[in-house]
Amino acid sequence: MKSSINTNRRDFIRTGSLSAAVLLLSSKLSALAVPGKKLGVALVGLGGYSSGQLAPALQHTNNCYLAGIVTGTPAKATEWAHKYNIAPKNIYNYQNFDAIAGNKDIDIVYVVLPVSMHKEYTIRAARAGKHVICEKPMALNAADCREMIAACKKANRLLSIGYRLHFEPHTQEVMRLGQKHVFGKVTKIDTGNGFVYNGDPNAWRLKKALSGGGGLMDMGIYAIQGSRYTLGQEPVAVKATQQKTRPDFFKEVDETIFWELKFPGGAKVTGKSSYNDNWGYLNVEAEKGKFALEPAYGYGGLDGTINGKPMKIPNIIQQAAQMDDFAICVKLNKQSRVPGEEGLKDMKVVDAIYRSLDSGKWESVG
Ligand code: NAD
Repeated sequence: MKSSINTNRRDFIRTGSLSAAVLLLSSKLSALAVPGKKLGVALVGLGGYSSGQLAPALQHTNNCYLAGIVTGTPAKATEWAHKYNIAPKNIYNYQNFDAIAGNKDIDIVYVVLPVSMHKEYTIRAARAGKHVICEKPMALNAADCREMIAACKKANRLLSIGYRLHFEPHTQEVMRLGQKHVFGKVTKIDTGNGFVYNGDPNAWRLKKALSGGGGLMDMGIYAIQGSRYTLGQEPVAVKATQQKTRPDFFKEVDETIFWELKFPGGAKVTGKSSYNDNWGYLNVEAEKGKFALEPAYGYGGLDGTINGKPMKIPNIIQQAAQMDDFAICVKLNKQSRVPGEEGLKDMKVVDAIYRSLDSGKWESVG
């Protein structure tokens, strides 16, 4: 059944397979190698995202490579060791994970687990002396994000969130157009992200204790990000409503949520997230022009328009660019452009959206 959700996600998120041409282009666009050895990355959790995206992307990186794995399933360990030539001493399980501290092959631990486990494994990895990439959403709530940031600071390790779109050229163009007021100030944003979830009803994504929530935590986080990086501002308040058409299936987590965000610049910003609708768009209106992305948030190729004309921007392997950039940050000891603080900013908005659903009122963000 797990493959069913992954297939659904793939069908939605990917809009086509990466062709040889895209791969070639992508390798030209990915980060140049910075002097020094390639850094070793250990993936923690070998589920859909690690196996379908991160491990393949690590075959296209210039500054880091897949050196280790952490898995609770011995059969996966054997399969991955063979497929990716991983040394037996670089294979861990959840019980002996802390022994990774003594392993000089591993520089970066990448946490790709259910959301409820992000905090624990980020903190354990930092305490083991490793730099950390943690998948989105960063944690169950903003308070946990703060603990993770503090633990990495205390251990003097860098922390980054798996926000691959910050390295993606269509997204970077939207950031430029919006933040630099290329068509004047942004006046209106409407964005949505979601897919129709028909997977395993017992999967962690539908268990509140493991996921923290449904469509909002998983997909809405991108739409929140989209509004924030288009404007380059932080929202101050939010009002949200929700809809559940399949309450028997989404027993514990949200299905569809609609929100309005108040930003200091006064732009009218609406967003929505869903486990019951296929959305993935970002529409932006400015004083003297408009621009849009659709698909806006996936990794199978983004597309966009500026004043109705195609952007004509190449697609890249986002995860390769993202991991290469973090490896460079580690080599140069500089903060990632998507540090833990960036994950915290989104979780403050998520927390406020859930508070607004409870209160039925506008709630301030953090
Ligand atoms: P998945 O269910 O396919 O994989 C989860 C992995 O965690 C599995 O290998 C599973 O065995 C392991 N695991 C360990 N303990 C577990 C437990 N107690 N319960 C359930 N699983 C347990 O999930 P996924 O799609 O790979 O997602 C993992 C993380 O990656 C999530 O945080 C998700 O939001 C994120 N993700 C990010 C993107 C992106 O585009 N950045 C895409 C997909 C997933």
